[in-house]
Amino acid sequence: MPVPIPLSQPDITRREIDAVVDVLSTPTLSIGPKIEEFEAMCAKLVGRRHAIGVSSGTAGLHCAMIAAGVGPGDDVITTPFSFVASTNCILYVGANPVFVDIDPKTLNIDLEKLAPAVTPKTKAIVAVEAFGHPGGMVKIEQFAQKQELILIEDSCEGFGGRTGKRMIGSFGRAAVFGFYPNKQITTGEGGMIVTDDERFAMTCRALRNQGREGMAWLSHERLGYNYRLSEINAAMGVAQMQRLDELLDNRRRVAHHYIDRLMTSRYLILPTIPDDTAMSWFVFVVRLCDLFDSETRDNIIKELRTEGIGCSNYFPPIHVQPYIAKQFGYKTGDFPVCEYVAARTLALPFFGKITNRQIDSVCETLEAILERVLLGKKDRF
Ligand SMILES: *Cc1c(COP(=O)(O)O)cnc(C)c1O
Repeated sequence: MPVPIPLSQPDITRREIDAVVDVLSTPTLSIGPKIEEFEAMCAKLVGRRHAIGVSSGTAGLHCAMIAAGVGPGDDVITTPFSFVASTNCILYVGANPVFVDIDPKTLNIDLEKLAPAVTPKTKAIVAVEAFGHPGGMVKIEQFAQKQELILIEDSCEGFGGRTGKRMIGSFGRAAVFGFYPNKQITTGEGGMIVTDDERFAMTCRALRNQGREGMAWLSHERLGYNYRLSEINAAMGVAQMQRLDELLDNRRRVAHHYIDRLMTSRYLILPTIPDDTAMSWFVFVVRLCDLFDSETRDNIIKELRTEGIGCSNYFPPIHVQPYIAKQFGYKTGDFPVCEYVAARTLALPFFGKITNRQIDSVCETLEAILERVLLGKKDRF
């Protein structure tokens, strides 16, 4: 069997390793100069006044919900087509997730379906740039302003992306990034909240650090958490930021090689990127056409894995995850576009260091499997 190709892989060089080793010989391993440097770089990139480093994207979303004043009994509008963290943060504060079906092109919240989802209890919108696609964000922001809803951007998949002149992370009251190893930049574990709102930023700083607001270590103004980002992780973040253009360019090269290679496939629907959008590629997800169902897709995933090719079904719909369906009464059929798309998605190996030859080999294997699966189907009928 050929050398396996992983689904994702971080891009770490001597620069990151040296940065981490350097921190280890300083006396400050938490709350020091590195997190401040990393925060300043992220704020500058997005064009926001404040950036608050936290221990994960999920932790950042939790802080953002509290700082936005979302609490028990509030409704929060969000997408069912995402990684569960974008809904879990709503549950952490006792609020109700109100899902809105997605647009089949952008895979983000469908603007037409936003208005009917608003209730007198709606307090906020958590909008996600699915797979890094900022489609619809400008209009979602306008909608939130008109309806006086707080918009929180879960930008954990879109670091460094842009639509028109607007950076991903610049919409609404605040945005949150995540730096897990499969993201555009990684700190091992980590996240970043960005906002222009000074009070919001202060609240998040207190929340990540056990509710401390001033310098006094044992004075706790409010219930807080330990969501701090260590200096070790922050040093990695600074080194990755110094390589950001290179990291994003490599991912763009990979995405475009996939697109060139698969464009002519009759069985696949590729991501559609508008001209005014600078994608920050998070993953490369293709969709199987109508001829396939979710069971066939799952078998294709199994076959690809047998061939040593990492792949996944990003993302199963959130509203039918057992704990959410049970608590809020959602069921299959509630969000048909999301369910239709989710049944046919296939995430292919995607990381900056994958070679064009590896991509070609993934595509050849995939095409051969698709042909075989379709032939098998014909035989059965
Ligand atoms: C990655 C991701 C997060 C945050 O993940 P962490 O692992 O907590 O950093 C949140 N929302 C979405 C949509 C994500 O893809």
